[in-house]
Amino acid sequence: MAICPQCPDQDESLEEDTMKVYSPLTLEKLARQRLLREEALAISALKDLPNILFPVMFEEAFINGHTKVLTAMIPVWPYPYLSVGMMIKNLNLETLKAVLEGLDILIAQKVHSSRCKLREINWRNGYHDINGICTRSYEDLPGFMTQKQPMQNSPGCGVKKELKLTTQLELIEGRLDESATYLLQWAQQRKDSIHLCCRRLEIQGLTKATVIEIFNFLHADCVQDLELLHLRIEDLAFLNPYLRQMNNLLDLTLSHITDTLSDSEISQLPIFQCLESISVNNVSFIYGNLKGFLRCLKKPLDSLSITDCNLSQSDLDFLPYCRNICELESIKIADISLCYLHLEPLRFFLQRVGHSLQYLELEACGIQDSQINTLLPAISQCFHLRGVSFCNNNFSLLFLKELLHHTAQLSQLEREIYPAPLECYEMGVILSHRLENFCPELLDILRAKRKPKEVTFETTQCSKCGGYYIYDLGSQSCIFQL
Ligand SMILES: [Zn+2]
Ligand SMILES: [Zn+2]
Repeated sequence: MAICPQCPDQDESLEEDTMKVYSPLTLEKLARQRLLREEALAISALKDLPNILFPVMFEEAFINGHTKVLTAMIPVWPYPYLSVGMMIKNLNLETLKAVLEGLDILIAQKVHSSRCKLREINWRNGYHDINGICTRSYEDLPGFMTQKQPMQNSPGCGVKKELKLTTQLELIEGRLDESATYLLQWAQQRKDSIHLCCRRLEIQGLTKATVIEIFNFLHADCVQDLELLHLRIEDLAFLNPYLRQMNNLLDLTLSHITDTLSDSEISQLPIFQCLESISVNNVSFIYGNLKGFLRCLKKPLDSLSITDCNLSQSDLDFLPYCRNICELESIKIADISLCYLHLEPLRFFLQRVGHSLQYLELEACGIQDSQINTLLPAISQCFHLRGVSFCNNNFSLLFLKELLHHTAQLSQLEREIYPAPLECYEMGVILSHRLENFCPELLDILRAKRKPKEVTFETTQCSKCGGYYIYDLGSQSCIFQL
C-alpha cells in the first residue's frame, strides 16, 4: 500500500481535453442521408444500388432508425454474410424486429431475388471491435481467437438450414433481455428454416426455468464460449447436464463463484472435449483443488488464466505434472498471493511449457527477490515469449536487473511490463523521480542484447486515488496515470 504525491490536487489531472475534431461529411454520405430521409425512395432505389454501397447504406439506415429500409434490404442482400457489431448505435428491439421482418420476407419467398446471397446473419458480434456492419463471417475476421474450426464438423451446427442466425446470449440475474427473448421466440417459430446458433453464452445468476426453456430450443453444441458468473454450487450442479452436451466449447470462464466444492462435487464436473482456454476469477473451490478441476480437460489447453483466487502449495506442486497444460501458449496468474509459497514447481512448469509459451503474466502476486530468482533460469528458456508482465511484485533494483538480464535474451518479446523496484517507495510514498532515474539504466540492459519494442515499468497503484506512475520506452519519461 502506497500513496502518490499527486493525491492532494488530483482533480486537475482528471480534466480531460474534450476538444472534438469534426470532419466534413463526404458528398456520398450526404447523398445517402438525403436518400434515407425519403424511405420510399430509398427502398425503390435499392435495385440500382451497387453492391459495394449496401453495407454503408445499411449502417446509415441502422444508426438513423430507418427500419423500413432495413427490412427491405435483407431480401436483396448481395453478400453471404451480414454481421451486426455490438457497438453499433440503435442495436435494440426495433432494429432487430426490422431485420427479422426482412428475413420473414426472404423465408416466405418461393423464388428468391437472384441478387440475394444471404446465408448467415451475425447479430451482436461481441468478438471484434466492429462498430458497424460488415459483410464477412465473424470467423473470417482477423483476430478471432479460434482460427481452428471445430464448429464445421459439429453435429449441432452441421444441421443444414437455409439460413443461420448467430448470436450471443446473456442471462443476467437469470433473465434474457427483451431483444434476446424476442429473437428466441421468433426463431423457435421458424425452426424449420432458421438455425439460431448461440456462439457465446453468459449466465450470470440462474433461473432454472429460463435455462430449461433456452436449451429446449438451442443446441448446446453450438456454444463455443461460455461464461458462468455469480453462481452457487447447486446452480453448477443443475447446469451440469447441459455442460456435458457442449461438445464444441472452446472457452470457459468461471467468475465469482464463492461456494466451496467437495471432492466428489469436483469430480462431477464435466469433461470438455476441445476446450482451448480456461479463465477462473475469484473462484473459491480452486484452492487445494486445481488438480481435480483441471481434470475437466480432454486435450492440451492453449490458455490458462487464474486470477483473484487462493492457491495452495499443493496446487502449485501439481502444475508441472498436469499433462493437459504442457502445451500452453498463454498463462496468467494475477492477484494471487504467492509470497509464502515455494516457487520451484512453477519453475519446473515453465521449463515444461517453454517450447510453446508465448505470453506469461505474473501480476500482483507479491513475488519477492528470492522467489523471482528461483524462476529466472526457466524464464530465459521460454524462447517463444512475445509478451511478459511482472507488474505489482516486490523486486529490489538488484533483482529487477537480474530479471532484465534474463528477458534480454528473449528475442521474440514484443511487449514487456515490469514493476518499479522497491527503491521507488519510501515510507509508503511512491517516489516517481527515482523510477525516472533508474529506467534508462534498466532499459540499457535490454538494449545491450536486442532492440526492445514496448517496455514499461509501473509502480503500484496509489491506495488513495488509484493512480500510478508508468515509465515507458516510447516517451522515456515518467507519467502519472489514473
Ligand atoms: Zn494518489
Ligand atoms: Zn449452431
